[in-house]
Amino acid sequence: MKKLTSAPTALTIHHYRNILMAEGIASEIRNEHFGGILGDMPFTETWPQLWVVNDLDYDRAKQLIDGTAQDESPRESWSCKNCGEENEGQFAACWSCGREL
Ligand SMILES: [Zn+2]
Repeated sequence: MKKLTSAPTALTIHHYRNILMAEGIASEIRNEHFGGILGDMPFTETWPQLWVVNDLDYDRAKQLIDGTAQDESPRESWSCKNCGEENEGQFAACWSCGREL
């Protein structure tokens, strides 16, 4: 078991868990009902937590969750420094020449 992430709402954690489940990664939610009870703890410690059951899945799970977190914030389009093409914000590399942002 390895702690993957925590989030302020159980909704987000459940969303993450669904993503992992879709990829066949077993995970467990902890702290789901702790919010606000343990007043002496740093508030992030009382957030719902997502744990991966198999440590070997951790790196892949982390990538999936990181990718999701990025998808939620819209990014501005950017122009390629190599060829000058406009790229939409969700692309990490130029569609035209493949240069990374
Ligand atoms: Zn380019």
